[in-house]
Amino acid sequence: MKLETVIGLEIHVQLKTRSKMFCGCSNAGENEDPNTTICPVCLGHPGTLPAPNKQAIEWAAKTALALSCSIPKHSKFDRKHYFYPDLPKGYQISQYDEPIGMKGSISLVAGGEERTIRIHRLHLEEDAAKLLHNEKGDSFVDYNRGGTPLMEIVTEADLRSPEEAGAFLRELRLMMRYLKVSDADMEKGHLRCDANVSLRPEGSEELFPKTEVKNINSFKAVERALSYEVKRQSKIWEETGEAPTKQGTRGWDEDAAKTLEQRTKEGSADYRYFPDPDIPELDFDKDWVDRIKSEIPELPADLRKRFMDEYGFNTADAKTFASDSALAHYAEEVISELKVWLTSKDPEASAEEIWERDKKKLAKLVSSWLLSKLLGALNASGGSISNIKITAENMAELMTMVHESRVNSANAQLILGEMLKTGSDPSDILESKDLGAMEDDGSLEGIIADIVKNSPKQAEEYQSGKEVVFQYFVGQVMKETRGKADPVLVSKMLKKALAE
Ligand code: ZN
Ligand code: MN
Repeated sequence: MKLETVIGLEIHVQLKTRSKMFCGCSNAGENEDPNTTICPVCLGHPGTLPAPNKQAIEWAAKTALALSCSIPKHSKFDRKHYFYPDLPKGYQISQYDEPIGMKGSISLVAGGEERTIRIHRLHLEEDAAKLLHNEKGDSFVDYNRGGTPLMEIVTEADLRSPEEAGAFLRELRLMMRYLKVSDADMEKGHLRCDANVSLRPEGSEELFPKTEVKNINSFKAVERALSYEVKRQSKIWEETGEAPTKQGTRGWDEDAAKTLEQRTKEGSADYRYFPDPDIPELDFDKDWVDRIKSEIPELPADLRKRFMDEYGFNTADAKTFASDSALAHYAEEVISELKVWLTSKDPEASAEEIWERDKKKLAKLVSSWLLSKLLGALNASGGSISNIKITAENMAELMTMVHESRVNSANAQLILGEMLKTGSDPSDILESKDLGAMEDDGSLEGIIADIVKNSPKQAEEYQSGKEVVFQYFVGQVMKETRGKADPVLVSKMLKKALAE
């Protein structure tokens, strides 16, 4: 029997508002000593009243709109009851039947295929406190996290593989960062994911009992945990010819690399939801929604498309640029500096016309210098684009020097390394270190002739078919010219000289 994987995700995203969801406590408690960012409201003392955080409601609506959800006219908060030491009130303030956003979607490319994953809903709630356990078996509660604004985003069961689930989460994380509503760092628990997974015979539309996998705290772990579950359930299908009989919750144990049964899940009736009588209901008018919508920045999918259409980058390069908004922003600054230089060369045409004319070549120049050489050097030195010393203007100047063959690629990389360290102007470095390309004054021909004449043994080997010796000659010429000769020209001239 051929089985199809059916995955749905429930994602919790912490909002990085200044204060908590229902009180004025600092929302930066993760960096503070335990139980220092707390007050009677977030500790659930009797007689206190919650006051909803306006910023959190706006950000939730903004995120919902960015996920193409519709915003209802009316929404409210409900109490979700359960008993646990991390929940001092005995209930969590959440949203039950009237969430802030409904029926959205995210489009993404996974495994080379364009996929649309539907979003079932987005609602707002408060985070629980954090339990800490020591080796002796004692447990402690840190209430700093209790009351942090949390968005819960639930997808439809549209994901068809663990890799697709991973791709979805990465895109969602990127959107949160573009929207600046959350750092969405999974390792720090800003973004947490529970995954529902079941299998069904291919072609079937039925949904069978699912497993909910919890405690997954990295993107890799999501894919690993889901792959493990798919294998475990496949085995049950193969052995019995049927679906697993019970629905359950399993925790992912990263060290053991397997899921372990935790409990059989409650139904929503067990939570005894009812509207929170302490919080007024929310009414959203059209002007408010339009205003929030107008504040949504360009999102990663649109940025990737624009980088391809407008600048001529290929899919992979556009994806890399979009993966970090600081990098994308830097690239656009460099490109606009390049355009200034282009128009100075050809005042007759506009920068856009010139770019359009030479799109492929210019896109390649930019991606090779920013994505491979600059990012490579930054990775090696542990630096980052957001605190780089090289101005966009200097970076563009270095590219024009390469483009016009005023410096060869190897020496340009030496200059780049120096620029990273000091932030100096590339033409100053070129001059002070004498790294400029050799003027084509005929001297190269003489140098090559001498080297060939002084290496009769190697010349004979090359002529008798030993092609590796060619590199010896290239090396000799580069040494003689102190790396300034253009290697492409050197090879061409050497081949000619050696053929004689
Ligand atoms: Zn508080
Ligand atoms: Mn929740």
